[in-house]
Amino acid sequence: MIQGANLSAATAAFQRCISPDCGATYGVDEARVACQRCGNLLDVEYDWNRLPVPRSLAEFERKWAGRDDPHSFSGVWRFHELLPFAPLPQCVTVGEGQTLLHPSEGVARYVGLAPGRLHLQYEGLNPSGSFKDNGMSAAFTHARCVGATRAACASTGNTSASLAIYCSVTRLMKAVIFIGSGKISYGKLSQALDYGALTVQIQGDFDDAMARVQEVSKQLGIYLVNSVNPFRLEGQKTIMYRVLEGLGWEVPDWIVVPGGNLGNSSAFGKAFHELHKLGLIPRIPRLAIINAAGANTLNELVEKRGLRWNDGRPNMEIASGYYQQMDAQRRRASTIASAIEINRPVNLTKCIRAIQWCNGLVREATDQEILDAKAQVGAGGLGCEPASAASVAGVKKLVAEGVIGRDQQVVCILTGHQLKDPTATVAYHSADPQQFQEVLGSRGVRSAAFANRAVAVPNDLDAIIGAIQTARDEG
Ligand SMILES: *Cc1c(COP(=O)(O)O)cnc(C)c1O
Ligand SMILES: [Zn+2]
Repeated sequence: MIQGANLSAATAAFQRCISPDCGATYGVDEARVACQRCGNLLDVEYDWNRLPVPRSLAEFERKWAGRDDPHSFSGVWRFHELLPFAPLPQCVTVGEGQTLLHPSEGVARYVGLAPGRLHLQYEGLNPSGSFKDNGMSAAFTHARCVGATRAACASTGNTSASLAIYCSVTRLMKAVIFIGSGKISYGKLSQALDYGALTVQIQGDFDDAMARVQEVSKQLGIYLVNSVNPFRLEGQKTIMYRVLEGLGWEVPDWIVVPGGNLGNSSAFGKAFHELHKLGLIPRIPRLAIINAAGANTLNELVEKRGLRWNDGRPNMEIASGYYQQMDAQRRRASTIASAIEINRPVNLTKCIRAIQWCNGLVREATDQEILDAKAQVGAGGLGCEPASAASVAGVKKLVAEGVIGRDQQVVCILTGHQLKDPTATVAYHSADPQQFQEVLGSRGVRSAAFANRAVAVPNDLDAIIGAIQTARDEG
């Protein structure tokens, strides 16, 4: 356990075990990833009565006028009053959260929603290219406040890119990154290397890397920034504040998000639960969490086996039984959406709590559905990486089922930038059947209905002009 400056005295924040039967509390000046008494996850909580809570969310718009101050510019710290676990001057920013709520008619049509009813929250605009920066600014702030000099994470790629950028920009600590072998896209790996992080590639997959990093950071006293870290989720709450801001502080009907380690879904649930308790929103939107079919633990547990939060008394034997079965059959997660290729989501319990708070549900999408949806997102203006497009594939499914109404207001979270994983994109659009087969065939992807293939022409002016004319006439 790392201990540093007395944060608890300086704030009205504390940590609390999520189990209502335990409810053990800890200071915010402690770095923990689990309850010491019962092993459950921890929340960051606030004594709101001692804090200046804004009377309306619209008050946050005033911060825009002061955006020459880096904390007002940050899309995370602009909302500091809603995550006040550290004094504002201590909060670390690299300019995260300057993201965009983008309406897309093309994608709305694709998923079967009426015009104007679908928005894409584009988190690829963050400094490291994914939503992870929202959480990292908060966890990094906490690490700094408790005096950490090294921070570590296991990562499918984006968490490591994010940790690495906070270390390289601020020079406040050293990054140690654990990755599995062969599962990380070059876009993400290149970031960690370029930003100068110590990168440890272990033989095994993400879940192996996750288990090892927890052991190593415990032994060496390195601060752990994986999404078991409750402070990361505080930063990720702000994605929802910005969605509301983008909608003129109107609450949408649905928030749809891909589910990997379930940090986002957990953070979103907490964000809405708190806003509602504080009287800042009149109702809570529904939450849909979309797994990849090749990494569908949450869908299995919630939709097929009936795992529920149950007011804090979930039957976790449902999960342990499923994990035993998975291990006995040697089943491992496998999907083109590498950011959500996870067998054992670490925030499972917080996520099922979010599902209860938000009347949520879970679906899964195949790699084929994910890549088709991704091509639609790309053609609609803002690209994304495969995992992000699971949200759009999920909406299409839920509209077809009649669960989401054609006229409901839906926001999909595009979690990562298109350039994170160009291999999948190029293979999908490739005119070369062999390239398609190599990258996607093994994943059961058979077709590329929305492929935009390069036109091959000889190096000849007439042939080139002819090809452009033909394309124009067809288009
Ligand atoms: C991390 C990540 C996810 C998964 O988010 P969780 O909070 O772990 O569920 C999805 N998409 C991208 C691009 C990611 O980097
Ligand atoms: Zn506990």
